[in-house]
Amino acid sequence: MNILVCVKQVPDTTMVKIDPVKHTLIRAGVPSILNTFDTYALETALQLREAAGEGKITVISMGPDQAKAILREALSVGADETYLISDRAFGGADTLATSRTLAATIQLLEEKNGVPFDLILCGKQAIDGDTGQVGPELSQHLGRCLITYAVGLELTENGIKAKRESDEGYDYFTAPLPAVVTMNKTPYDMRWPNLTRFRKARVADIPVLTAQEVIVPEDKRGLKGSPTKVKRTYTPVREKNGQKLAGMPAADAAKKLVELMGAAKLI
Ligand code: FAD
Repeated sequence: MNILVCVKQVPDTTMVKIDPVKHTLIRAGVPSILNTFDTYALETALQLREAAGEGKITVISMGPDQAKAILREALSVGADETYLISDRAFGGADTLATSRTLAATIQLLEEKNGVPFDLILCGKQAIDGDTGQVGPELSQHLGRCLITYAVGLELTENGIKAKRESDEGYDYFTAPLPAVVTMNKTPYDMRWPNLTRFRKARVADIPVLTAQEVIVPEDKRGLKGSPTKVKRTYTPVREKNGQKLAGMPAADAAKKLVELMGAAKLI
């Protein structure tokens, strides 16, 4: 079982504020963390390896040198190997350029291993970018099945079975391997590192892949390969609080609800 997990270093958004005048993020003094949804992806990979009884977990991240910190964190909880993709040529990338570079890295590692990864896991979204596009884009670039927003994952005889939350309960989706899955919040958190691994991870050599090894055409990587234009960032304003229909029989509440939704042109 060969699993690759994509992880992103993000500012701790619980501590980021938006400049009320310039409408830009105030990042100064905000600590960087391993993207929360990627911790669920990583823990899922560790559990799948345990369930299979064997396997290798490779973790990759594209970012500046300081992103090595989250790769060390991944090693300390049990990842087997990590790679940082870092080059000025990749700087300023939007989601499309990011996913192209990650896909090229995955192909490079697969060539080196001689086999494709059985599973590529991503978080459902990065808590700073919030687009949730990188995972689906990877499945498109690599031509592999995609399941998004999984809250649980298990191996089956023919592939994987993913559990996803819905309004009614849970939906289940299956896919053959190799596949790409994006992870939503799972009922379990990422495990704590043990002391031995933690110590080893602190001094581990993290290989860096540059644009010399990860080959992406110049007009498809970094700023040049990024068609997205950010017009502005802002905190969404909550316009209305919900209205509770209480103190009446259910049938009357249903009638009232239809009336209110009709008036609001929602139905
Ligand atoms: P999502 O699609 O929400 O992420 C989903 C999952 O994909 C993550 O949980 C993770 O598993 C994986 N993933 C996402 N990004 C990475 C990554 N880098 N490495 C490994 N796995 C990943 N950001 C910068 O840091 N520096 C810049 O210079 C920069 N310039 C930008 C310029 C433009 C025009 C735009 C639009 C964005 C720029 N960004 C920059 C933001 C950056 O493009 C996004 O953060 C990045 O593309 C990932 O998108 P996202 O955060 O929406 O990830």
